[in-house]
Amino acid sequence: MKFDLHCHSHFSDGFLSPDDLLARAKAQQVDVLALTDHDTIAGVVLAQNAAKLHGIYLIPGIEFSSQWGKSGVHILGLGVDISSAELLAAVDAQEVARRNRAEQIALKLAKCGIEGALAGAQAFAGDANVGRPHFAQFLVQQGVVKDFNAAFKKYLGAGKPADVKYEWPQMSQVIDWIHKAGGVAVLAHPYKYNLTRTKMVALIKDFAAAGGTAVELVNGLQSQAETKDLARILNGLGLSASCGSDFHVPGQPWQELGHMSPLPEDVAPVWLLSSVNRFLPPHPDAANL
Ligand code: MN
Ligand code: MN
Ligand code: MN
Repeated sequence: MKFDLHCHSHFSDGFLSPDDLLARAKAQQVDVLALTDHDTIAGVVLAQNAAKLHGIYLIPGIEFSSQWGKSGVHILGLGVDISSAELLAAVDAQEVARRNRAEQIALKLAKCGIEGALAGAQAFAGDANVGRPHFAQFLVQQGVVKDFNAAFKKYLGAGKPADVKYEWPQMSQVIDWIHKAGGVAVLAHPYKYNLTRTKMVALIKDFAAAGGTAVELVNGLQSQAETKDLARILNGLGLSASCGSDFHVPGQPWQELGHMSPLPEDVAPVWLLSSVNRFLPPHPDAANL
């Protein structure tokens, strides 16, 4: 079976509706898909319905933003119970935090003489929570900057006039939320935090010590050498391995649904854990095990 355990819909910063996402997953021959929008589960029910239509197994998921020292790190919750009161409270808290941050960004932009940014960014966000990419789109639309990158360089990036520092909840807090919702906590894309190898290993060890169970060993297209090295680290710490495309937008072949190298044979796949397994068909050999 082909697994893709990390992707986004338009309920966060993805481009497709859950319906279109599942149709695309089908076209890419994905058998098991986890929807993991940033800090929200708003798209999961729609995705579950679309998945039934296409004969795909849908794993309810989320990608939480969290804090590890000075770094923001992403933790995937796979196989979460979307009716869990703890999870709903956590999602609410993240939404309030994002909303406050958006309001502060808009205030700072107003001080730069740019009015109406919150409503403008909200229009781009649609169903999703307002974030910096939506402010960037607004600034481009208004002709304040020439393109998306310039919006970050001039206004929204670190140290720029509309930069708002925000501390996400601690990694251990997020892991706790995921566990309370019956999910498995997966450290997302450890290669994407610009850490040295030593620091990356320290992050993975802290993650494991905080109760984390798995690491996203394969994220989109990455080198075989990276995969091999990371696999050794995971096996040394007794952590399971996950894989996902981190798909957001059509037309980016390096981040396409189902497009990634398979997990190496010597790792423990995250889908053997009961939190994920309970969404999959019974193993054909189950009766003989
Ligand atoms: Mn994203
Ligand atoms: Mn991420
Ligand atoms: Mn992601």
